[in-house]
Amino acid sequence: MTHNNMGWNFDNSYARLPERFFESTEPTQVSSPKTNLFNKQLAEDLGLDINELQTESGTAIFAGNTIPEGAQPIAQAYAGHQFGNFTMLGDGRAVMLGEQITPAGKRKDIQLKGSGRTPFSRGGDGRATLGPMLREYIISESMHALGIPTNRSLAVVTTGESVRREIDLPGAVLTRVADSHLRIGTFEYAARWGSEEELRMLADYAINRHYPDIEDNSDRYLTFFREVVKQQAELIAEWQLVGFIHGVMNTDNMTISGETIDYGPCAFMDEYDPTTVFSSIDVQGRYAYQNQPGIGQWNLARFAEALLPLLHEKQEHAINQAKEILGEYKEFYDDYWLAGMKKKLGLHNHEEQDEVLIQDLLDIMEEHDADFTNTFRALTLDKPEKTPMHDTSAFSDWHNRWQERISRQGETKDAAFQLMKQSNPNVIPRNHLVEEALEAAVQKGDYTLTERLIEVLSAPYAYTDKQEPYTELPEPSDRPYQTYCGT
Ligand code: AMP
Ligand code: MG
Repeated sequence: MTHNNMGWNFDNSYARLPERFFESTEPTQVSSPKTNLFNKQLAEDLGLDINELQTESGTAIFAGNTIPEGAQPIAQAYAGHQFGNFTMLGDGRAVMLGEQITPAGKRKDIQLKGSGRTPFSRGGDGRATLGPMLREYIISESMHALGIPTNRSLAVVTTGESVRREIDLPGAVLTRVADSHLRIGTFEYAARWGSEEELRMLADYAINRHYPDIEDNSDRYLTFFREVVKQQAELIAEWQLVGFIHGVMNTDNMTISGETIDYGPCAFMDEYDPTTVFSSIDVQGRYAYQNQPGIGQWNLARFAEALLPLLHEKQEHAINQAKEILGEYKEFYDDYWLAGMKKKLGLHNHEEQDEVLIQDLLDIMEEHDADFTNTFRALTLDKPEKTPMHDTSAFSDWHNRWQERISRQGETKDAAFQLMKQSNPNVIPRNHLVEEALEAAVQKGDYTLTERLIEVLSAPYAYTDKQEPYTELPEPSDRPYQTYCGT
């Protein structure tokens, strides 16, 4: 290498799709960028030069002021069903720099979010504010540490410019890293406005990128649909198992790769209540905790509709095939969820009554407003908490049944607790902790709490003493918690 290009190793395969799928666009220059968070470990995995990236030249890249060598900045075109209504969207405040090919040979989208207006911005300013970008960084990195497929966060920079929301707020740009940003909405867009040939090219592209094993399959598009159904079922089951509520499960926010993306009004639930909704704009509770699995299937039905022309030349036949696979979603989901729940309770084998045992616990938790994470945490630590639920006879009866169930399996009790430790996070990004950290960062420019929180959340199954203060519940005054879309 004759000069230092910071380890960037871009390819731009998405930009080789037909022009319909994107608009070339450059990030808008900002006045005085400053890096506030930088993910060294991720940068290293990407093959980037962490020292160079921490200089002014690195900041200029994360701010969109310099385009790294080999990048081909674009805004992606997509449509989507937002709260049930179909609409044209596209990257209105994000620019894809390109795909970084990592030393391990992986292909990762590098995207700047909040980098200014694009041809898809409509009335928006293309900007993002600091609080929500820090929030996305914290929560996406926490999801990754929890073992849940997600896009990741490489850096947050402030722009030195203010962004007008209800009030003036500090502007920021988040650098996101994803397996891809192909969405159900990308396919809806192709089906609505593209030719069948273009739809096919998009599907072939997605298969090649995410499901290469099925490339030679004779029924490849049907198999592709089935793989995405499976992946989404697994993803949403994982959300349910940690109490994660996405908040805006619009079809433009659901990926083909099965990664969690578009962290807007998402949040983790404290006390277990299946009807929990955090987002202030979700007045109908469409995306409530208990609705997430069903919405996943609804979204996949929109995906199937988009794929129909590829599935079979006779539409009726295509519809029947798609319906059959869509019908498998619930089975996939139930299987993942049950397997995950059993791990949370330390169950290695299977018994007929396991689902009842699990549901009974959830019912007791719901009745007594038990904290979702801490209930499983207390079981894992084998240490009853001082909560209203733990004092009830319903709970102690359940606890006895559970203990008997554990002693009936071949594994030792130790093995059961080991399994539980790996499956029940000790710490999650609790809303009051996230808010407290963001407030210090945004109001005072103090990132100590944010950095500490990110550090603690990076090992959620470690069960260290240091994590103890982060397991405490919010004061009643911090509830009910609400998240806002004005991001
Ligand atoms: P999201 O809620 O982030 O999934 O965004 C939904 C759609 O609105 C996407 O097309 C975004 O690009 C667009 N959008 C959100 N915020 C802005 C903004 N400040 N300026 C322009 N477009 C935006
Ligand atoms: Mg979106």
